[in-house]
Amino acid sequence: MTSARLVYADETGQIYDHPYLEMAGSSGGGWQRVDESYLIPLPPGSELFLLPNRLPVGYDRSERQFLKLKEDPNNPKQMVQAVAAFMAPAHTQILTAAYQSEENVPVLPLFSYTAVGWKGGQFLAAGLRIDPLPRQDIDQFDLDKLETRAKEALAHQRHNRLIQHLGTCALSYGCPAAKNYFLGRWEAPLPTSPQCNADCLGCISLQDDSQVCASQERITFVPTPEEIAEVAVDHLRRADEPIVSFGQGCEGEPLLQGKTLTAAIDLIRRQTGRGTINLNTNGSMPYTVAQLRDSGLDAIRVSLNSAREDYYHKYYKPRGYSFADVEGSLRAMKTGGGFVSINLLTLPGVTDEEEEVETIIRLIDETGIDLIQMRNINIDPEWYLKGIGYRSRGRRLGVLEMIERIRNAHPQVKFGYFNPCLNPG
Ligand code: SF4
Repeated sequence: MTSARLVYADETGQIYDHPYLEMAGSSGGGWQRVDESYLIPLPPGSELFLLPNRLPVGYDRSERQFLKLKEDPNNPKQMVQAVAAFMAPAHTQILTAAYQSEENVPVLPLFSYTAVGWKGGQFLAAGLRIDPLPRQDIDQFDLDKLETRAKEALAHQRHNRLIQHLGTCALSYGCPAAKNYFLGRWEAPLPTSPQCNADCLGCISLQDDSQVCASQERITFVPTPEEIAEVAVDHLRRADEPIVSFGQGCEGEPLLQGKTLTAAIDLIRRQTGRGTINLNTNGSMPYTVAQLRDSGLDAIRVSLNSAREDYYHKYYKPRGYSFADVEGSLRAMKTGGGFVSINLLTLPGVTDEEEEVETIIRLIDETGIDLIQMRNINIDPEWYLKGIGYRSRGRRLGVLEMIERIRNAHPQVKFGYFNPCLNPG
């Protein structure tokens, strides 16, 4: 077990390491000790969050028990609060932060809350780098260059509403994909849909639950195929390892704009065969997926919080489609010869439960998934577990053993975080 120490914050927000309590983590709502092999230096670009009204929990080796820290050891009588890490992109959490919430606490905002400790003069997080690609690493972004490039594009292409929208995404919301578009590299976003046919608990673009707020505005218009193609063709022709992706955090479900996407893909592929056209989606409409594949769509990424239907339905609250349709979309793309990823919204304790892992392995058997993108689910863990009606169902493998188990069952399946560029030519 680790000798990393618990970190906590005082009521002013100052963060300290505890004189002797060991850091702890949480899995599926249960506290656990942290194995040294789970820890990495907190990645650059990560943030530390204070968790108000939540008591930090550490492990007392001498008492051999978990302890809730009720007051600041440096300043007794002063209240304390728990601390968690929001890890930088391309990193997957192995344990979430361990804490004891007070009664009726406000729900935490839509971020992930990874266990963090202190050792050897640095913060350590319970996670792993799941994708080596530096696409969203903080040291890759020259913000002055970005601002110059974005403002030039916005001035020259006033007629294109999509480019104006991406300007806000890059310069106001700090969207890494929109930034990479203006910097002329890697994956560029093509948001198209104001509507959605699901009502996810953790939707980041539209929240009707008053307890949490959406972290970004949803697009309010459907760009024309010409506006989409202008963004895409320019990017596919000149960018390094170019990908253009429908289905972004600032929109609803792109499959609902099937006709526009088909026309746009046709326009794009008439002008360039370079790069990859990808669709991030909830996978709700297999027939439309097959049509898009026929019109030239190269890859698809379907988001899942779980491969277990009951947890899927409780999270996505699908309107007019079912989990069978999602499986149908994966199959339609694969049988059409396309590249298939799932965007596995990961929460330690749920995602690595043996029953979940066996269900994911079966889903790969039946649909031919090529890549599992492991994204930390951005949601208050306690609120999420309650929202999906989570009940522990059997052994938890741990995130590292989960990956191993799937690799052993399907050696061809890759793990990562980013959509691949299939044809960088
Ligand atoms: S599928 Fe996407 S846009 Fe639709 S509700 Fe879920 S997170 Fe929001």
